[in-house]
Amino acid sequence: MKIFEVAYPLNHKPTPEELLQAASKAWGVPARKIKRCDIVRRSLDARGQLVYRYKLRALIDGDEPVKEYRFDYKNVASARPVIIVGGGPAGMFAALKLLERGIRPVILERGKDVHARKRDIAAISQKQIVNPESNYCFGEGGAGTFSDGKLYTRSNKRGDVYEVLHQMAAFGAPESILTEARPHIGSDILPRMVEGIRECIVSHGGEYHFEAHVTDIKPLEGGGDRWELVCDGGLTFKTRDVILATGHSARDIYKLFDSKGWALEAKDFALGVRAEHPQSLINHIQYHGRWQPGIPAAEYYLAEQVDGRGVFSFCMCPGGILVPSTTENGSLVLNGMSNSQRNGALANAGIVVQVSAADVPEYARYGTFALLEFQRELEQKMFALSNSLKAPAQRMADFCRGKLSADLPRCSYAPGTVSAPLSEILPPFVADSLGKAFPVFDRKMHGYYTNDALLLACESRTSSPVRIPRDPATLQHASLPGLYPCGEGAGYAGGIVSSALDGIAVVNSIYR
Ligand SMILES: Cc1cc2nc3c(=O)[nH]c(=O)nc-3n(C[C@H](O)[C@H](O)[C@H](O)COP(=O)(O)OP(=O)(O)OC[C@H]3O[C@@H](n4cnc5c(N)ncnc54)[C@H](O)[C@@H]3O)c2cc1C
Repeated sequence: MKIFEVAYPLNHKPTPEELLQAASKAWGVPARKIKRCDIVRRSLDARGQLVYRYKLRALIDGDEPVKEYRFDYKNVASARPVIIVGGGPAGMFAALKLLERGIRPVILERGKDVHARKRDIAAISQKQIVNPESNYCFGEGGAGTFSDGKLYTRSNKRGDVYEVLHQMAAFGAPESILTEARPHIGSDILPRMVEGIRECIVSHGGEYHFEAHVTDIKPLEGGGDRWELVCDGGLTFKTRDVILATGHSARDIYKLFDSKGWALEAKDFALGVRAEHPQSLINHIQYHGRWQPGIPAAEYYLAEQVDGRGVFSFCMCPGGILVPSTTENGSLVLNGMSNSQRNGALANAGIVVQVSAADVPEYARYGTFALLEFQRELEQKMFALSNSLKAPAQRMADFCRGKLSADLPRCSYAPGTVSAPLSEILPPFVADSLGKAFPVFDRKMHGYYTNDALLLACESRTSSPVRIPRDPATLQHASLPGLYPCGEGAGYAGGIVSSALDGIAVVNSIYR
C-alpha cells in the first residue's frame, strides 16, 4: 500500500482514471497492477495558487485489504435492555453500538422529536419563549442537531473516527465527510440524519421515549437490576446498566448527584463572546484576496496566550448565524450554526478565555459548583441587561478602546442586539484577555481586528464546568457500579464526534 499526494486546480474534479494514473506515475507501477486507488483526504491549499490537494491510497495485489465499514444491527426486541439517558451524539451512537452488540437500547430523552423541536426553536427567536425541555441543546439529537455540524476531530485516541463518519454517511450525511479535511454537515441535513438513526433504533426493537425527563436515579438492592430511573410525571424504568449522556447543560443532573452525595469534580472551561465578521472579509484574509464563487466559505482558528491565559476561537461557523442556545428562561447564551452550503453573509466564532476556579474566588463557597454558578450568573446578567434575549453587543475596536458603540453593524442574531459596554460588563479578567487578544490575532489574520466586527455576549457553554468522575478502565462511575457517565456532560468529550466515540467506548466496556 502506498500513500500519495497530488494537487489539482479548484475547478478540476479528477476522474478515478486520472487518480489511478497519478498514483501509477508517483509509484512507478503500471496502472493495471494497481488494484484500487482511493481518495483518503481532500484539502484546500490557499498558501500559493489555490489548489485542492488529494491524499491517495493505492493498493496492489498482496497488500492488506483496507478496512471496510459494515454495520450489522441485530433485532434486539427480546434482548436485555440498557437505558441511555439523553439522545445526543453520545446517546445515539451508544444506541447504535448496542444494536450491533445485540443489546436493546432504551433512550430516555427529555426533549421532543426533531420536528416538534423545530417549532420550539423558532419560538425562541420569534417570541422569546424558551421551553426548558426543548431548545437548541435539548431534544432529539442533542446539542448537535441544529449546529454547523463540524466533524473536525481526527484523533483516534478515543476510538475509530471513521466508524462514526461512515455511520453518519449511512444515515444521510454527505459522502464527502469521509474524505474532506474539514468535514461538516449543516443544520439542513442533520435533523434527517438524526431521524434516520432513531428509525433504525426503533425498527430493530430498541425504544426511544421523548419528553422523558429523568429526575431521579435510584440504586436498587439485590436482584439483576441495579438502577431505577424516575421520569418527570412518574414513569419509571429499571435497568442493570445505565448510560448517562445528558450533555453539558443538564445542570439538574449535577445537582441530583450532589444531593445524593455522589462524586463530582469541578472542571476548567472557557467563556467569552461571539465575534461576527462579514464572511467576505474572512474570505479575503484567508484566501489572500483570491476568493471566488464556488470556493468554500473560509474558516479560521486562532489561539494565543495572553499573560499566561489561553484565548482561542471556538466553534467557528463560516456563512452561519448566531443562535440563542440557552436552556433556561431569564438567561442568555449564544452559539452558532450554519447550513450545509455555509452561504450566509456573515461568519461567527466564539472567542473564549480559559477559566479555572482560581479565577473566581468569590464563588468558592459553591465548592464543586463554583464555575457552574459563575457561568449561570453571567448568563443571567447578560439577559438582565435588556430583560430579553437581545444580546448586548459592542464593535470590536470600540471594545478594545472601552468605548460604547454609537451604532451596531448588521448581525445574524434574530432576537436582536443592544449596544452595551461589554468591556465593562464582562468579568475583568475575561474582558482584559479578550481586549489584548484581538489586536494580536490581527497579526495572524491581517484585517481581523476591525470595527466592522461585532462582539456579542455571552458564549459560555463551551464545555461542562463539572465532571462526573469515572473509572478509566471500566468507564463506570468511580463509586456507582452500572452507572456510566458519558459524553460531553460527564466531561469526557467535546464536540459531536468525540461524544459519539465516547458513547461507543462505553458500550464496548458494558459488553466486555
Ligand atoms: C448551537 C450549537 C452548535 C454546535 N456546533 C457544533 C459543531 O459544529 N461541531 C461540534 O462538534 N460540536 C458542536 N456543538 C457541540 C456539540 O453539539 C456537543 O459537543 C455534543 O452534542 C455533545 O454530545 P452529548 O451527546 O454528550 O450531549 P448533548 O448533545 O448535549 O445531548 C444530551 C441530551 O440529553 C438530554 N437530557 C439532558 N438531561 C436529561 C434528563 N435529565 N433526562 C433525559 N434527557 C436528558 C438533552 O435533552 C440532550 O438531548 C454545538 C452545540 C450547539 C449548542
